[in-house]
Amino acid sequence: MHIFDSIVVGGGPAGASAAYAMARAGLDVLLLEKEKMPRYKCCGGGIPRKVAKILDFDFSICCDAPARGIVFSWLSGETHSRSGDELLGWVVKREVFDQLLLEQARSAGAKVEEGCKFINLEERGGLVHVTTTGDNFSGRTLIGADGAGSAVGRRLGLTRHSRPGFALETRIEVPDSILEERRGNLYFDLGGIPGGYGWIFPLEDSLNVGVATRRSAFRGLRGSLRDYLLREGLEKYSGNSDIRGGRLAFRLRPSGLVKGPCCLTGDAAGLTDRLTGEGIYPAILSGELAGGAVKDFLQGDARLNAYQTAIKKSLGMNIFLANLASRLSGLFPRMIFDRVCGNERRVEKAMAVIEGELDYRELFR
Ligand SMILES: Cc1cc2nc3c(=O)[nH]c(=O)nc-3n(C[C@H](O)[C@H](O)[C@H](O)COP(=O)(O)OP(=O)(O)OC[C@H]3O[C@@H](n4cnc5c(N)ncnc54)[C@H](O)[C@@H]3O)c2cc1C
Repeated sequence: MHIFDSIVVGGGPAGASAAYAMARAGLDVLLLEKEKMPRYKCCGGGIPRKVAKILDFDFSICCDAPARGIVFSWLSGETHSRSGDELLGWVVKREVFDQLLLEQARSAGAKVEEGCKFINLEERGGLVHVTTTGDNFSGRTLIGADGAGSAVGRRLGLTRHSRPGFALETRIEVPDSILEERRGNLYFDLGGIPGGYGWIFPLEDSLNVGVATRRSAFRGLRGSLRDYLLREGLEKYSGNSDIRGGRLAFRLRPSGLVKGPCCLTGDAAGLTDRLTGEGIYPAILSGELAGGAVKDFLQGDARLNAYQTAIKKSLGMNIFLANLASRLSGLFPRMIFDRVCGNERRVEKAMAVIEGELDYRELFR
């Protein structure tokens, strides 16, 4: 029986980053992905500049839509905008971005099984045995990176602190004049969605438009998206576009992420920022940290709990403050809009948070 050093379940940003980190370190890694790549991932595709600080390879091929400005609006009316010379980040198509990350892991030496769905796991004889829709596999460790509603998390009983939200998005083709006008900015609209916001993220050839709520159930979300498109004058272009929905993976606190030789990363761990909905950066960061922790664990240098400590150190305070700030913005949305979005200095600070130059602790200070 072949025994892998580590089995990674899920080939999104978290799983690909974990597999890449471990394969680079010379570990024998298997990554299981239930879809055949490239696959569409329901997402706004906004990635902050700080991602470039973690990824040590060129991903510019995916970054065809750089963003330097930000526009906040209240019910698509009153707006406050700010644009700077600094790059905030990029808007990517997830099918392209995710495939590139996965290919990096593959080229570093990870074995990737696509179209192979994780079903169950069992710890026996110091190993983790995994059942899938294809073959069965065994490993010394396992990293759950299978996204929001993680089957691995459920099997491990590690979903206690999860509090999911929900978002809808659609990608619409618009005339060049509209693209030209919108390109380079990230648009956030407040006031239309209880406990959430709407966004327009321009891509090179289309607009990604969506609505998100921090609430786990909100029946009117589809109507909110339609209203937002109408208010923005984009409804007439959305007729043929699919509307896709997905869970936002929030967690009350970043604990309970490790069990025995297994741990959770990215959305499986619920690391999405509850205020902004940003989940790609924490997915990549946690994948990288989990990969490093597994390596140390297999070498006998540390317990796997070191991963939990690393997540608390890097994301713990941000998760706590994002939870707090999202509650406040849910209770007093208009006040937050006036006090934060209406103040030039504060918008600049919000932009610095998006770029990754400032964290919430410094922002609130
Ligand atoms: C509508 C919407 C808009 C969003 N917009 C943004 C945004 O603009 N910016 C941002 O930073 N974040 C955004 N997010 C959040 C972001 O998409 C996630 O946080 C991010 O994808 C997390 O990456 P991940 O690798 O943890 O999970 P995923 O990207 O979900 O990857 C998990 C992978 O695991 C696979 N998988 C699932 N189950 C199994 C199984 N049983 N066996 C094998 N494989 C399995 C899936 O097919 C998938 O490829 C958005 C989310 C939603 C829903």
